[in-house]
Amino acid sequence: MSELIFTPVIGIEIHIRLKSDSKLFCSCSTNTDAAPNTNICPICMGLPGSLPHMNHRVVEQGMLAGFALNCGIRPKSLFFRKSYFYPDLPKGHQISQCDLPITTAGYIEVHDSEGKLKKIRVNHLHLEEDVGSLHHSASDGRLEGASTSYVDYNRSGTPLAEIVSEPDVASAAEAVEYVTTLRRRVIYSGASEVELEKGMMRFDANVSMKCSDGRWGKKVEVKNMNSFKALERAIEFEIKRQKKIMLQGGEVMQETRHWNDAKGVTSPSRVKESYRKFIVEPDLPPLHISQEWIDRVHSRMPEMPDVRANRYVHDMGLTQEAADILTDDRKVADYFESCVNAGANPVRAANWIRTEVMRVLNETQKKIADFNIKPEVLAEIVKRVDDKKLSTTQAKEVFDYMCANNAGLDDSVKKLGITEGGVAGNALNEIIANVIKANPDVLAEIQSGKDMKGKKFKFLQGLVMKESKGQAKPQEVAEALTAALKN
Ligand SMILES: [Zn+2]
Repeated sequence: MSELIFTPVIGIEIHIRLKSDSKLFCSCSTNTDAAPNTNICPICMGLPGSLPHMNHRVVEQGMLAGFALNCGIRPKSLFFRKSYFYPDLPKGHQISQCDLPITTAGYIEVHDSEGKLKKIRVNHLHLEEDVGSLHHSASDGRLEGASTSYVDYNRSGTPLAEIVSEPDVASAAEAVEYVTTLRRRVIYSGASEVELEKGMMRFDANVSMKCSDGRWGKKVEVKNMNSFKALERAIEFEIKRQKKIMLQGGEVMQETRHWNDAKGVTSPSRVKESYRKFIVEPDLPPLHISQEWIDRVHSRMPEMPDVRANRYVHDMGLTQEAADILTDDRKVADYFESCVNAGANPVRAANWIRTEVMRVLNETQKKIADFNIKPEVLAEIVKRVDDKKLSTTQAKEVFDYMCANNAGLDDSVKKLGITEGGVAGNALNEIIANVIKANPDVLAEIQSGKDMKGKKFKFLQGLVMKESKGQAKPQEVAEALTAALKN
């Protein structure tokens, strides 16, 4: 029997918190770090008689996120009530665009196992409100064993975008690249800051297996992943688990499983998620978006990071790695481009930013926007090295001095006693004359022809280099010294 081949078929659902000062259907602050239950009102608590109203700023954020995923925008979309009971949901229903979403289909490109670009299709992005959060009194925050549970509704009604992919993902690695690329593009668009450590991005994965003997495993929905690492591990675990069942001739059950990050396993979810049927939200009119509005929001879209990185590779000669690092943060990429526009060689400017600038930002915990060396000035440093006015060592010394003392370029060069362009001509001859004068015995040995191997010559050359503070060029010193010794 030939060996069975299993192909994972994976779809990913992502929730991203959209950037907005106020909630989706009321004017409460979205600050979820405030004291519990302080940013709430009758609307986000769903009290009788309260009416939700659409936050147009969030609609624009949703459009920007959609553009970042190469999606189109629907001129008319709807909101629905997704009814279920849970203590974190005060209304008894969540308002979501599940059925007629704000965007049409889109895609994100990733590399497959052979390194070729492939498209992961995005079915759609829709807007919905988040629910409240529960805090359990068990020491590790679990529900089991807790004597008391607390509910905080500050998060209730904060705006989310749910992004649903087609089952085009074929491995955990592809899944990670998909969510990483997607996150970076959404941040660039300005739709969200997507801070992972603040829980602004959450993942669910639908995993099933296709076997070369024609069998298809059932789809398993894995929930509760809050980091790239968790998503990767959960998918890898599920692939192994399902493959094992199918190899033993068993059948994978269709179910919802919960990822336990501490144990590194998925287990059947005990909470049955049974939604009643969705009804159109009677308190909200359809969302109409005019072409003029779409165009206006689209004009705010910057060049996307992967497109930008490609341009750096193909037009500026950077390596893919350097281009990826520089475009990871839009502000760093802007800094790099300003530097190049100011006349710096792109490859050398990229090297300076990746090594020196990023090192200082790391050490000082600063963001590039607060960095005291402006891109035009870094460009000047790079140019002076290229023009041999400064050696690389000197340039780094100057750069460090500027960072540490918040000083200007020319002032720093002066303070460090560096003579740009090195020591040559009369200044060099003067140093040589002084060195020879101070070492008459060495001079005598050389002139008597005893310096067979040039050791004494090298000794004098070293002294001259030292006197020039390393700024003279060794070749020029050798020539000028030879000439001086002949006199
Ligand atoms: Zn509110």
